[in-house]
Amino acid sequence: VKVYQLEVKGVVQGVGFRPFIYRIAQAMAMRGEVYNDSRGVYIRLAASKDRVEQFMHRVTSELPPLAHIDEMTLSSCESSAIYSEFTITQSRKNDAVSVRLPLDVSICEQCTHELFDPHDRRYRYPFITCTNCGPRYSIIKRFPYDRSNTSMDTFVMCEACTAEYTNPLDRRYHAEPIGCFACGPKLSMFQKETPLALEQHAMIDQAVALLKEGKIIALKGVGGYHLVCDAADDEAVKSMRIKKKRPAKPFALMVQNMEKVQLLAKVNDQERRALSSNKRPIVLLKKSATSHQVLSRYVAPEIDQVGVMLPYTPLHYLIVEAFGGAIVATSANISGDPICSTIEEVMQLSDVWDYCLDHDREIVNSCDDSILFVENDQTFIVRDSRGSAPKASLLEQEISKKTLALGANQKTTVMIAEDKLGILSPYIGDLGSIKSLEHYDATIKTLKRVYDFEPERLVCDRHPHYESTKYAQALIKKHTHLELMQLQHHYAHILSVMGERSIDERVLGVSFDGTGYGDDGMLWGGEFFICDRHSYERIAHFKYFQLLGGEQAIKEPRRIALSFLLELYGEDALEMDHAAVHAFAPWERKALYRLWLTKSSVQSSSCGRLFDLVASLTDTLQLTTYEGESGLRLETLYDASITESYAFSIEDQAINFFKVVEQMLEESDPVTIVSKFFNTLVAIIEALQRQYDLPLVAGGGVFQNRTLIRLLMHKMPHIIFPKDLPCNDSAIAYGQLIYSASSSAKK
Ligand SMILES: [Zn+2]
Ligand SMILES: [Zn+2]
Repeated sequence: VKVYQLEVKGVVQGVGFRPFIYRIAQAMAMRGEVYNDSRGVYIRLAASKDRVEQFMHRVTSELPPLAHIDEMTLSSCESSAIYSEFTITQSRKNDAVSVRLPLDVSICEQCTHELFDPHDRRYRYPFITCTNCGPRYSIIKRFPYDRSNTSMDTFVMCEACTAEYTNPLDRRYHAEPIGCFACGPKLSMFQKETPLALEQHAMIDQAVALLKEGKIIALKGVGGYHLVCDAADDEAVKSMRIKKKRPAKPFALMVQNMEKVQLLAKVNDQERRALSSNKRPIVLLKKSATSHQVLSRYVAPEIDQVGVMLPYTPLHYLIVEAFGGAIVATSANISGDPICSTIEEVMQLSDVWDYCLDHDREIVNSCDDSILFVENDQTFIVRDSRGSAPKASLLEQEISKKTLALGANQKTTVMIAEDKLGILSPYIGDLGSIKSLEHYDATIKTLKRVYDFEPERLVCDRHPHYESTKYAQALIKKHTHLELMQLQHHYAHILSVMGERSIDERVLGVSFDGTGYGDDGMLWGGEFFICDRHSYERIAHFKYFQLLGGEQAIKEPRRIALSFLLELYGEDALEMDHAAVHAFAPWERKALYRLWLTKSSVQSSSCGRLFDLVASLTDTLQLTTYEGESGLRLETLYDASITESYAFSIEDQAINFFKVVEQMLEESDPVTIVSKFFNTLVAIIEALQRQYDLPLVAGGGVFQNRTLIRLLMHKMPHIIFPKDLPCNDSAIAYGQLIYSASSSAKK
C-alpha cells in the first residue's frame, strides 16, 4: 500500500502533539498512525495527496499552545501495514536524536480550576497536571518523552488515571506525569530529621501555619528546593539571612496573583505578561512606594528593585493561596553550590530551615528559577533555566564538527551542536566548589546521554585557571582525537550577540564586563573591538589599573579606589581625607601602598570594577557581599536631571579614567558623581561609535545595569543587545559555539 509519511521536528513531545494529531485525523476521517521517535513525531496517512495537504494545513494552523514545528517533511513510502482506522502507536527508538527536550511548564488554567473545585477528584491535589502543563525537563531521563523514560515510571497509574491516559479525547491523554491521590506522588514533611505523621492536606495547612509563625521551610518545587518564609516578617527574613550567610543579596518573592504583585512593585503590561507566562520566571520589578508596608526591609536592602514570581506548581498555589501574603522563595543551596534537588542535599542545610515539605517525585535534572527584567520595552534575560532551558537554537549554517562549548567560570552554561541544531544547557552557576563542578559534569553528561552526542571539537575560554578550561584539557588528554579551540572571553560575548541577532558583518563590539582573561595576560573587561565572526581587533579599552591583591580587590571596592588614588598621588594618597582612604586602617593603607609599589598585582581594564571604584569614592559601598552589588546600589543614586558628564581622553587606545577620577574628587555630592559617571560611560561609547560608524553590538555583564541600558537605548537607539540570551557569562558558551560554526565555514 502506498502511504504518505510526515516527519515533524521541533517541540513536539510532551506538549500533547499526538492527541492533537489524533483529533484532526478523527475529524477528517483519515486512516493511519502517529508515533514518537527520538527524532520527532511520525505520521503515516493512507490518503490522497490532496487530503494529506489539507491535513498538513490544519496541523500548522491549529497547533497546540506549547508545540513548535521546526520542520515538517512529506514523503511517500510503501507500507505493509493496513490501516482500517487512525491510531496512536508505540514509540520507536532511533539512533539520531533531533527532537527538542520539552520544558517545564507552569500549571495551566484548567488544572488550576480543578485544583480549587471541591467536586473534582483532584481537588487540592498538589501534583495535578495535564497534557498542557507540569514538569517535563526536570523529570526526563531519556528520549522519547514517555512516562517510562521519566521519574514518573515508579508510580503505577490507578484505574481512573489509566482511563484518562488512554483516552485520546481526554485532555490527559498521554499526559506523562499524571497521577492522583490514589496513585501519584505524595507529600511528606519533616521537622529537621524527624518525619511528621500528618494527612496530605494537613501538611499544607501545617506549612502555612508555620510560615505565619515566622518559621523557615524547605519546599520542594520543580527543579529543586526553595527556602521560604514570610516576606513581611523582619525576624524571619533576618534569620534566613544570618543562617544562609547572605547579608544583603536580594531574595526573590512569590505572591498569589497580580493584584498582590502590585502591592509591592510597579508593573507594566510587558512585565505582567512575563510574570504570568507559562514559564513563570522571576521578574525584576521596581519597588512600589508602598512596598515597605508589605515587605520586610531585609528582603532587598538598599536597592530599588525586587524579584517577583507567581506560583507555578499546584503545591505553590495551595500554599500562597492559604497564606495570603508574599513569601520569600530563594533557592536552597550551600553558598556557591548548585540548588539542592534531593532530600539528602537539603538535609545538609537543616540548620537553616525549621521544617521541610517534601515529595516523592524525583528531580532528574535540577534547574533554578529563570530571571528577567524589562527595560525600555525590551526583555533582558538574566538567567535562563526552569521553563526556558535547555534552549534549542537552529544555527544559520551547518556545523562541520560536532562541538561541545564549555562556557566560562561564573554563571556558566554549556552548549552542544550537531548539524544545524544547537542545545544550550540551563544555567549551571559558578564553578567554585566541588559540588558545582559535579553539577557541571552531570549537565554535560545529561546532554550527551539524552542527545546521544559525542563531540569532535571542544571550545573553551583562554583563561588558564578557569575550571571549564581545565575540564577541556582533561578531556583532550583522555580523547586525543578531539580538537581544541580557545576563545578570548570578551570576543565570545560579542559573538554570542552577533549569533543570536543573526549579524554576519563587521561590527563595533563593546564588552563591559567583570573580568576575563586578555590576550596580554591582563584581566580585561572594558573593551572595544572591531570584529566579524572570524577575528577581532582590540581598538580601545580602559587604561589599566592595578587590582591590589588580585581576587581580593574584586570584593573590596575600596581597594580599587585606593589603587586609583595611589596612581594619581603616590604616597600622599595615604593621608587624604577621603572616605575610600578612611575605609582602611592606617597599617592596611601602608601595606597596600607597598604592594602597589611592587607592581606585582594583576592589571585590569574592567568596567565592572569602575562601578566598584565609584561606589567606594562616594562611600556608597566599601566591601561587597555579592556580585553586582555596586551597580545596583549606584542605580538608586542616579538623577536623570543631571545631564553633564566628565571629560575623558583616549590615548594610544587607552581610555584614561584616572582623569575622570580627578574630576570626581573635586565634587562631594554622591548623586552628582554617580549621575555624571553613568553619563560618562555613555559618552565614551558614543565617541567610539561616531569614530567607526559600524553596527554597535553590546555584550558583557555590566549591561545588566538597567540605568546604563536605559541611557544607551535613549542616546543610541540602534545599539544591539542580546534578546534571547543573557548578556552575562551565561552567554559565553553560545559565543564559543558560533565561533566553532564560523571557523568550519572558513575555506
Ligand atoms: Zn494542566
Ligand atoms: Zn490515579
